[in-house]
Amino acid sequence: MTYQLPELNYGYSALEPHISARIMELHHSKHHQAYVTGANAALEAMEKARSEDNFATLPKLQKDLAFNLGGHVNHSIFWKNLSPSSSAPEGDLAAAITEYFGSFEAFKNHFSAAAIGIQGSGWAYLAWDALGNRMIIGQLYDQQGNLAMGNIPLLMLDMWEHAFYLDYQNVKADYVKAFWNIISWEDVANRFGSVSVHSKSLLLG
Ligand code: MN
Repeated sequence: MTYQLPELNYGYSALEPHISARIMELHHSKHHQAYVTGANAALEAMEKARSEDNFATLPKLQKDLAFNLGGHVNHSIFWKNLSPSSSAPEGDLAAAITEYFGSFEAFKNHFSAAAIGIQGSGWAYLAWDALGNRMIIGQLYDQQGNLAMGNIPLLMLDMWEHAFYLDYQNVKADYVKAFWNIISWEDVANRFGSVSVHSKSLLLG
């Protein structure tokens, strides 16, 4: 199998009271697992299509791969973005947030509004845009929509109802507020540190 469900580096109850153990267990072991299974299944079906030289179902398979691989990538990042012991952004990361968004408060307000404002299922994300060489905030629809190819994710927040409904019901704003208490800024800083100012050349050649 190409894709595998990653282990969490904390227990299912570690993020309480902000995210319950029940949500974490379902979200990781059922929802995330389903994306992993779906992505592997799409790859296998494509292999079969190539071996039989029959591409009749290819449009469906490409959509299945994008959706399920998107889900796998997004959740893999999300789990690492979370931590029971959160602090605040520091150093180069804090400076970049201020540079591109004006202040941490303005960044937080923009990101929160992006999350709460998603119509349907999706994600809010902070990314490094490898063409403009800057941070941007985006709204990702479903697992793969409304996204430019050059966006390298740094921080992601799952706004699908399965991520919060058991704990917060329809009050999305309280879930988003709780998110700020469990962000691993160390993980975000590590991701930011690995994006290069030369990443632009990856896109422009
Ligand atoms: Mn999810």
